[in-house]
Amino acid sequence: MTSAVKLAALGGQVSTLSRFRGALVGAVLGDCIGGEFEGAEDVPFDRVLQHLSGLEDDTRGDGILQYSDDTAMMRCVSHSLLTRTGFDEQDMARRFAKEYSLAPGRGYGSGVVQVLRKLASPQLSDVFQPAQAQFGGRGSFGNGGAMRAAPFALAFKNAADVRRYSRLGAMLTHSCSLGYNGAVLQALAVHLSLQGTLALPQEFINKLISEMEAVEKDETAQRDSKALNLAEFPYCARLHKVKELMERNGASIEEVISELGNGIAALESVPTAIFCVLHCLEAREGLPEHYGGLERTIAYSLALGGDTDTIACMAGAIAGAHYGILAIPQSWQRSCEGAEEADQLAERLYKLYHLERPEDGMTMSDSNQPHSHGSSQHPPNSD
Ligand SMILES: [Mg+2]
Repeated sequence: MTSAVKLAALGGQVSTLSRFRGALVGAVLGDCIGGEFEGAEDVPFDRVLQHLSGLEDDTRGDGILQYSDDTAMMRCVSHSLLTRTGFDEQDMARRFAKEYSLAPGRGYGSGVVQVLRKLASPQLSDVFQPAQAQFGGRGSFGNGGAMRAAPFALAFKNAADVRRYSRLGAMLTHSCSLGYNGAVLQALAVHLSLQGTLALPQEFINKLISEMEAVEKDETAQRDSKALNLAEFPYCARLHKVKELMERNGASIEEVISELGNGIAALESVPTAIFCVLHCLEAREGLPEHYGGLERTIAYSLALGGDTDTIACMAGAIAGAHYGILAIPQSWQRSCEGAEEADQLAERLYKLYHLERPEDGMTMSDSNQPHSHGSSQHPPNSD
């Protein structure tokens, strides 16, 4: 291990640019590497480690592991934010629809496919409408908004913008508050990690809880959690469970799955991804000693089974923002389709993040399209 890698593994002295690159590359790696176990029951560590050691085999060629819908849509989010120097729902929706039409075989869920087909229609004026019509008007609470939320944390400096735009970006396909609030939580976790907050894990989780208390006070969120028979503040309740599991220090895989979930609902996967990162800040039994924190996080996410590509993708983004690009093994990067492009997109987002914008929260969509759902407008109702 070089000293730079060692330093990165300790999570200290990581440059901001390295964190940006780590976040997007970490997300793509989680998606590509996690695809192997998608839908499996919990997976024994030796199977995970066998899969991971296979990535060190140079004879297998570059980009051998293909990315899925998670990365495909995250690329669209990044390209849209960069091209429009901010959030523009029309542009982002168009990119989702085009990406799907060009490569429909990336593992999209059947629900979102209906939305993506409608978004492709040139006659469509309200791009939030197709998602709102889903599931009898209740909207989707899946993790498809959360899986692609990381770039919002890389494009906007202040937490209010990260919250606002990650929510709107998710609403293009997921209009139930459980769906878009999962995206907000994921974007906020990446936002805090980019700032080094994971160096103090208790502070990290407490900040997320207080952020989500404010987010879940919303009337629609309250109504949805009641209708779905959930706790009054469902994400806060899960984050408190994350805290309990951290304090228990040594919770089994089975306990983690039963208390946090490993499914395709955002509520059953975003807090789980956050737990994976926190749990793997330290060395863990069953994982090789030479693994750094990023490697441990991805390996542990896969061992939970279930929606492994998305959980590893979200955990990979948060962990990558903490450890930085130098902590990610070269062989892993080489093995994954889209890792190189993610690295380049992260550098461009870094510049956008530091760009002096005319007004905090100002976007192209505000200045060019007065009737858009940009920052100065009220977000559309989700029901
Ligand atoms: Mg996927």
